[in-house]
This record gives sequence, structure tokens and C-alpha cells, in this order.
Amino acid sequence: MIDFTPTPEQAMLVEMVRRFVQEEIVPIEHELDPDAGRLPPEKDKELRAKVAQMGLTNWDAPAEVGGPGLDVVTQTLLAMEMSQHRAGLYTTCYGVFGGAGLAHLYEASDYLKERYLYPTLRGEMVGCFALSEPSGGSDPARAVQTRAVRDGEDWVINGSKLWISEAANADYAILIARTGDEGRDGLTAFVVETAAAGFTVRREVPVLRKVHKPTELTFDDVRVPDRNRVSPEGAGFRMAAERLAMRRIPYAAECVGTATAAHRMATEYAKIREVFGKPLAQQQGIQWMLVDNEIDIRTARMFVLDAAVKADRGEPFRTEAALAKLAASEGGFRVVDRCVQIHGGLGVAADLPLERWFREMRIRRIGEGPTEVQRMLIARDLLGKHASASRRSA
Ligand SMILES: Cc1cc2nc3c(=O)[nH]c(=O)nc-3n(C[C@H](O)[C@H](O)[C@H](O)COP(=O)(O)OP(=O)(O)OC[C@H]3O[C@@H](n4cnc5c(N)ncnc54)[C@H](O)[C@@H]3O)c2cc1C
Repeated sequence: MIDFTPTPEQAMLVEMVRRFVQEEIVPIEHELDPDAGRLPPEKDKELRAKVAQMGLTNWDAPAEVGGPGLDVVTQTLLAMEMSQHRAGLYTTCYGVFGGAGLAHLYEASDYLKERYLYPTLRGEMVGCFALSEPSGGSDPARAVQTRAVRDGEDWVINGSKLWISEAANADYAILIARTGDEGRDGLTAFVVETAAAGFTVRREVPVLRKVHKPTELTFDDVRVPDRNRVSPEGAGFRMAAERLAMRRIPYAAECVGTATAAHRMATEYAKIREVFGKPLAQQQGIQWMLVDNEIDIRTARMFVLDAAVKADRGEPFRTEAALAKLAASEGGFRVVDRCVQIHGGLGVAADLPLERWFREMRIRRIGEGPTEVQRMLIARDLLGKHASASRRSA
């Protein structure tokens, strides 16, 4: 049985971030548009300075690239706190903690770090991650049709991508393109600048989430120098899969954080709102909803921390990350849904953060590998080759 009690240092960091979120971020949200994606510039500057004083600028970056070098468990505990506000799922603390988000560049060449990673960490550049295509996102090893063909020192890229978040505001995309045969070993990762000739953001796609709109992209003879290749040839899928598995841990932690905030609100509301002559909290139907919330949150929290512990130990954690993502996004959605119900009409009003959490948590069951794909990954580890007839490319 793993002991998930935070160390004194972790507890201190968690408390510091909790106070920052509750005292600095939550009060501002009363003044902001309910779907806001950024802070007013003055506030942004002020809060970034406070984060720097806390020593948490670029909080998720390793020490080698100038970040605080926190282990995965500590990052997970902090992500559970940072997400406990209205914009917490997709615009965690409005970005004032910085971070590249796209860990793909942490182990890239010195050239790529100088040109893209460090400016991103300094807040001078924005990147996006372009894997999914109109032909499908669940099974990219088969679906990716965007092709990169070698031409001297360059690669020439043609194709299209769909659902790529933030590309309209990004300076570059980490793009997975096919350089070889069908299947997972035919894919390679590149950094492609959005200003490159032939790179077009065809449209932004309105979805339930109002910030960081996903986009449709087309590539028409986009020329990229070979030094912009992030992975060895044919290793782009493996690199993306490793990064996606790691990314699932903070992604799941954010779901736990938001669910925790919603559950806290519903618990307090149940004590003060009266129906049929007594507080909601005395109605057994409501008590059971709160208990179900507690079960969903505690279960997801344990799965997420279990994955983080394994990642820190250098043990395989792909199955644990899939379990964490599955439990936290599905459980988090159930929690937010119950909290909306407990609040009645207020639950769907933009006066409270619940309706934004409800919309954005719905996306969490699809993004970063839908629920069914997580189930497939877990089943594969349980059943090995018996899980599917063909393991050729997935
Ligand atoms: C708001 C938003 C932002 C996104 N941002 C990005 C981004 O920045 N970069 C990026 O590359 N992608 C991004 N995506 C894409 C996302 O990763 C894909 O939507 C996701 O992987 C599913 O792919 P798909 O939509 O093509 O669905 P499909 O692959 O067509 O699958 C459809 C549905 O089938 C189900 N399914 C899949 N496999 C199985 C199975 N084996 N058994 C049973 N059911 C199955 C799943 O429920 C799935 O949702 C984003 C998506 C959204 C909605």
C-alpha cells in the first residue's frame, strides 16, 4: 500500500499554492467574464511577479531548462490546487505559473531549445501540439495522413490537421507527420512555424469550451529544415505516446482539483439551502450524491497519485496514467454534474463556475485520448495479445 501523505516540503508548497489560488485568483474571477481566458495585463504582471517570488515560475519544467525541477508527485499535488477556480481546467491560474506545457521540447536539440523552448518559457512564444486529423484522433498511428517528404536539407509537408487547440495564436506547432510507411513506425515529429508559407489556419471550431479554440489546419508544401525535426525519423509516434501518457497525469489531477472545488461548493450550499422545511443537507437523496462525489474524488485522487509515484520511480506508468485519466475525467464529470443538480437553477447560471466546469469537464472525457482509448490501453496491459486480433500499429 503506497503512503500518499505529502512530505513537509510538499505540504508547504501545496499550502502556498492553495492560498495563492484562493486569495489571488478566485476573487478576480468575480470581476472577469465567466468565459475569460486571460487576466488584465496589469494583474497578469503582478501575479507573475508573485509566482516568481514563490520560486514556481515554469513550475512544470525540469531544473536543466531553468524550472524548479519538481518531481511528478509534487507537480500532481500542485495541479490539484491550481485548478480549483472557474478557469482552472483549461486556463489554470490564467497561465501565471508559466511552463511550456509541451514537454516535447525538454529533450530536444540545443538549437530547438534556444529557438523555441526558452522563448516559450520566457513567455515570448506560444506553441501548439498537432497530432489529430480529420481522419481521426483516437488511433493516430493509423489515421495520420499528413505527409513530410525529404527534399535535400528540408522536409516538405502536405496535409491537414483538426482540433488543434490554440493554433490561431501559436508561433509554432509540434507536428506529427508521416515520413514512412503505414503504422506507428512511419511517423516523425517536427517543429513547424505557423508563419511558414503554406501553413494555414483554415478556421477555428467553436466548441463547448470558449477559450483556446480548436482549429483546422492545412499544410500546402510547407518547407521545414531538417534541424526542426524533434524525433528521430519514424520515432514520432513513440515520442508523442510517451509525452501523452505523462501529460495524462496533470490532466487528470486538474479534473480532481476542479471536482474537489465543485464538491466543496455543493457541500456548503446543501447546508444553507432549505427545501420542504429543512436544509438540503438533511435530505438523504442529497447526502447520497455528496457521498458519491466523495467516492469519485478519492478514487481518482489515488489513481492519479499512484501514476505519479510510478513515474517518479522510473517504473512503467502507462496503464496507471490511463486509469488516472479515465477515473478523473469520468468521475470528475459525474461530480460536477451532481453539484449542478444540487444547486438547482443556480447550477446552470453563469453567476457560479459550475456551468463552465460542466461544459469543460465534458471535453475532458474526449481530449488527451477518449475514455474508450484509455479502456483499450488498460485492457491491452491486462490481456496482452489476447486483447486484440491485430497489434500492428496501435
Ligand atoms: C476541444 C478539443 C481540443 C483538442 N485539442 C487537440 C490538440 O491540441 N491537438 C491534437 O492533436 N488533438 C486535439 N484534440 C483532438 C482529440 O484528441 C480527439 O478529438 C480525440 O483523440 C478523439 O479523436 P476523434 O475526435 O477523431 O474521434 P474518433 O477517433 O473518430 O473516435 C470517435 C469516438 O469513438 C470512440 N472510440 C475510439 N476508439 C474506440 C474503441 N477502440 N472502442 C470503442 N470506442 C472507441 C471514442 O469515444 C471517440 O471519442 C482536441 C479535441 C477537442 C474536442
